Amino acid sequence: MDVLFNVAFFVGMVAQIVIRAPYDRQRRKIEKTDQRVTASEQAVLAVLTIGGLVLPLVYALSPWLAFADYPGSPMAKAVLGGLGLAFLVAAIWVFWRAHHDLGAYWSPSLEIGADQHLVTQGVYGAIRHPMYASQLLMGIAQALLLQNWIAGPGGLVAFFLLYLVRVTKEEAMMLDHFGDEYRAYCARTGRIVPRASA
Ligand code: SAH
Repeated sequence: MDVLFNVAFFVGMVAQIVIRAPYDRQRRKIEKTDQRVTASEQAVLAVLTIGGLVLPLVYALSPWLAFADYPGSPMAKAVLGGLGLAFLVAAIWVFWRAHHDLGAYWSPSLEIGADQHLVTQGVYGAIRHPMYASQLLMGIAQALLLQNWIAGPGGLVAFFLLYLVRVTKEEAMMLDHFGDEYRAYCARTGRIVPRASA
């Protein structure tokens, strides 16, 4: 069972890379008019790589982290893993939708390209940060699928840091560029959870 859950996690990760690849190619062709890459952003990207990739690989490919495996019966572990699969599918779906809707405006750090317009359709019509929402779902999936106190929570830790460091700055940048249009968009959407309609 363990092996199946580990394999599922890495399949999910490969799916993310495959989904993102064509948008990454498109984005590289666009000239950037504003780039806001800070040291704290880069630190978060490093934590994301360590928590979401390096520790999972060490856990899956070596016995070094086995001392920190979750305790519990095989039955309890199977239930956790099953839940993890459901979160993984949800994470990949939201990730795919967000890339489909945002297209070439996706970027690993905060930047605005020439001719960028505000995307408000599709999943962006409900929440402003579906890619970060998918990161949260993926972090939960990781904690349920990789049943180890060191490798499991890495993705969630990275999500919380990313959220703290990024979202306010990203929204300030969007507000600088799109002004009232972005203000109105914020009023009708939630950050990562849809806003309850009044
Ligand atoms: N926060 C978003 C996007 C992450 S990618 C999400 O979680 O889905 C980051 C880049 O997306 C930023 O540099 C910004 O230029 C761009 N961006 C974010 N929201 C956008 C929107 N509604 N319309 C157009 N571009 C957007």
